[in-house]
Amino acid sequence: MADPHGFLSVDQRETPRRRPVPIRLMDYREVYEAGDPEQLRRQASRCMDCGVPFCHQGCPLGNLIPEFNDAMYRGELPRAVELLHATNNFPEFTGRACPAPCENACVLGINQPAVTIKQVEVTIVDQGFEAGLIQPVIPERITGHTVAVIGSGPAGLSAAQQLTRAGHTVVVYERDARLGGLLRYGIPDFKLEKHHIDRRLDQMRAEGTRFKTSMEIGVDISLEELQSSFDAVIVCTGATVPRDMGIAGRDLDGIEFAMDYLVPSNRVQAGEQSGVQDTDQSGRGKSGGFIDARGKHVIIIGGGDTGADCLGTALRQAAASVTTLAIGTQPPAERSESDPWPTVPRIFEVQSSHEEGGTRRYLASTTGFVGDDGGSVMGIDVAETRFVDGARVPTPGTEHRLDADLVLLALGFSGPESEALGLDVAEGGAFARDDSYVGSAPGVFIAGDAGRGQSLIVWAIAEGRSAAAEVDRFLTGSSRLPEPVRPHEKSFKC
Ligand SMILES: Cc1cc2nc3c(=O)[nH]c(=O)nc-3n(C[C@H](O)[C@H](O)[C@H](O)COP(=O)(O)OP(=O)(O)OC[C@H]3O[C@@H](n4cnc5c(N)ncnc54)[C@H](O)[C@@H]3O)c2cc1C
Ligand code: SF4
Repeated sequence: MADPHGFLSVDQRETPRRRPVPIRLMDYREVYEAGDPEQLRRQASRCMDCGVPFCHQGCPLGNLIPEFNDAMYRGELPRAVELLHATNNFPEFTGRACPAPCENACVLGINQPAVTIKQVEVTIVDQGFEAGLIQPVIPERITGHTVAVIGSGPAGLSAAQQLTRAGHTVVVYERDARLGGLLRYGIPDFKLEKHHIDRRLDQMRAEGTRFKTSMEIGVDISLEELQSSFDAVIVCTGATVPRDMGIAGRDLDGIEFAMDYLVPSNRVQAGEQSGVQDTDQSGRGKSGGFIDARGKHVIIIGGGDTGADCLGTALRQAAASVTTLAIGTQPPAERSESDPWPTVPRIFEVQSSHEEGGTRRYLASTTGFVGDDGGSVMGIDVAETRFVDGARVPTPGTEHRLDADLVLLALGFSGPESEALGLDVAEGGAFARDDSYVGSAPGVFIAGDAGRGQSLIVWAIAEGRSAAAEVDRFLTGSSRLPEPVRPHEKSFKC
């Protein structure tokens, strides 16, 4: 602990400035301005190096947080970079987009704002790359074992990097033309610019991981073919089946799943497709065409990360209005007694997109969609939610109509697309697996959202690392790779 009085002399939490809203709405670049090194050092000094560092327990990766806070306070960047990468393959992703359960668990958070752990993390990795401290880690020996990884999201990439470094020959198969999974095509650039992914992929290629894009397993090659060509297979295909609403008017034009809106928008930003909406599509996203919110009244049903990303995107496209509807109650601004420290609390979250505009409405039950004569959505009927025997139902007599030219369904995901791979599915919709990440076919392991259900980047990386250790043990009889999480672990590890 570099400064034993740090948490007393600096009692305020400071994060880098965000670019002014009117400026950042003119582009898709990340919202944060470059951090001030002195401010970061001040914040690192607040860490108390707790005897029981709850931050470390709160992080699914078990990041060595007090240690890297100390290293950054002392200006020891090489040590900080090493400590950070000891537990996390991709801190540039978590440092930007993680909801930071470590900060919820920080002991300082009991009576002061938590240490800005995520900011310290992202600064270490950004400065580490700038200083040339993050280089390929070439395996010392090649084992002769081969592993196929299906899917190139954070779970697939972390599993692949761990196994390549352990000396196995790893090929990642990805159905999209570019690598990264939801990091590439789900999360918009204003939260995560894509050059961060490309830089990490360069490192992985130099280490020896091979990538095959535009290859859909179950369509272009069967899972059985992969099983016969490789010693082990890891399925990291994500949880991509969207939840739907079976209510009146659902088939109207202009009612889209959030991902049918976000993916083309991200492709446009990457220069992969045109940013002009094809008039023939009448706003239909299923074809993969660009959907433009310009001048439209947009309603987003469902909050969460996906809803917030739709909001930020629609505001950048100059929508006439954007309203987010949530069926439940508005969470409190502070931790409630039912969410005590150090658990992850349900609180009213203000993401960068929420600062930028739009209206958020709670207790809003959607009862139907209203169309015009041409079959396009023009409104949405909403009633106030009430709770009956634990169920959320519309209150009679409270119905009212909101204008809507574009409705985005951000209701979450029910699980992976399971038919093409033919693996068993567990209750809840994700692929079935045992406590060693083994799925229902021999030599096939399951990691990330495909096995956990819709989750977070940090859990995907943690599962990829742990599944890699299991695969290493399966191939060689033992493993020295770290295993941060077990498949059925859900939250705070106390
Ligand atoms: C819009 C949105 C915003 C989000 N924002 C955040 C956030 O801010 N912070 C956070 O922590 N989490 C966020 N998440 C969640 C996070 O992105 C996921 O939990 C994480 O990406 C899961 O990683 P994964 O590797 O398991 O799967 P994915 O990232 O979904 O990757 C799966 C990959 O498998 C590929 N694939 C699927 N089937 C096949 C097949 N048959 N053959 C070959 N390839 C296949 C897919 O194309 C994809 O590339 C967000 C999710 C969404 C949808
Ligand atoms: S819990 Fe907070 S104060 Fe304690 S070691 Fe972790 S970051 Fe530092």
